[in-house]
Amino acid sequence: MSTDIVSFSNLALIDPLLRALTGAGYERPTPIQAAAIPPVLAGRDLCGTAQTGTGKTAAFALPILQQLSATRGAGGIRALILSPTRELAAQIGDSFRIYGQFLKIRHTVAFGGVGQGAQERALKAGVDVLIACPGRLLDLMGQGLVKLDRIEIFVLDEADRMLDMGFIHDVRRVVSLLPRQRQTLLFSATMPRDIEELAATMLKTPARVSVAPPAATADRVRQSVQFVDKASKRAALQRILDDPRLTRVIVFTRTKHGANRVAEALSRAAIGAEAIHGNKSQNARERALANFKSGVTRVLVATDIAARGIHVDGVSHVINFDLPEVAETYVHRIGRTARADADGEAISLCDGEERGLLREIEKLTRQRIPELRA
Ligand code: AMP
Repeated sequence: MSTDIVSFSNLALIDPLLRALTGAGYERPTPIQAAAIPPVLAGRDLCGTAQTGTGKTAAFALPILQQLSATRGAGGIRALILSPTRELAAQIGDSFRIYGQFLKIRHTVAFGGVGQGAQERALKAGVDVLIACPGRLLDLMGQGLVKLDRIEIFVLDEADRMLDMGFIHDVRRVVSLLPRQRQTLLFSATMPRDIEELAATMLKTPARVSVAPPAATADRVRQSVQFVDKASKRAALQRILDDPRLTRVIVFTRTKHGANRVAEALSRAAIGAEAIHGNKSQNARERALANFKSGVTRVLVATDIAARGIHVDGVSHVINFDLPEVAETYVHRIGRTARADADGEAISLCDGEERGLLREIEKLTRQRIPELRA
């Protein structure tokens, strides 16, 4: 079993869901899942900034399935998920089928452009979860085939796309017909002003989770890149760490072995360093973290997953020993420094093979990262 800090089982998911996740080959929650599942299970409203591909569907589908299976409904549809497109609605339907395979929660998908017969039959047979596009939903409601008066949980997915596609009036109409006493989750890839305003009208003291922190985080961090050969990375890292202004440093590596090797090399060079990753026991990780927090160790070498649950103030520098495969991860990593009002600095070591990754990062953060000459 994985010993990483966050696993699906320590998110308090029930066994039928855990079995389905194992069957689907999911090993550990994605960041949006780790952040969103606990507050949603606790019944809170949620405002999530996340794009497709981040695992956001499971972030709402899993806690919804769990909540619905814990109580009996009063008859009628209990959860409504509104999706801007048929494709997305169908995908969400597939997700509910896979995650809910060991539970007795019935779901169906309703969208336009296809005959209504099958959707109508499913609705008449009774469903707990309805995944729908706004137009078809309003049609079905107009025909008396769907009632929203028993909805306990409402999800507005891809809210920004919903607005772009001109569905705002339909969305408002649907929301106005929902019971006031309900749990509401809103997901959007971006959070421009109009989405914030919509969220404010729909959500009550929502938990906020974001997997692509606003570029503002990245803006506050001084960033640089040093181009080096793969073989000279360790030497380059040591040179960078010769500067005493680097008081509390997190070094990110792509692999657990990489983290160990870097920490060992630094220790041999008399630089206080410890590695933290999923192959270490909980005790060893906690000890390493405590030493880092108290300043006993100057450098913490971490993999992304191990670093996920860690919050340490006063990190002066983040060093990317390896560039991350996913550009968003870069923004997460550098967000570890420059917390609160403090400024921070991030230095990335980039070898020849990583140039493409660097370009992806620059595209995402919409800024060029200046070169630091050795
Ligand atoms: P989504 O962002 O919800 O569209 O999900 C993107 C893809 O990631 C889908 O193909 C999911 O099946 C997959 N996925 C979601 N969560 C996980 C996870 N924890 N581990 C592995 N794959 C996942």
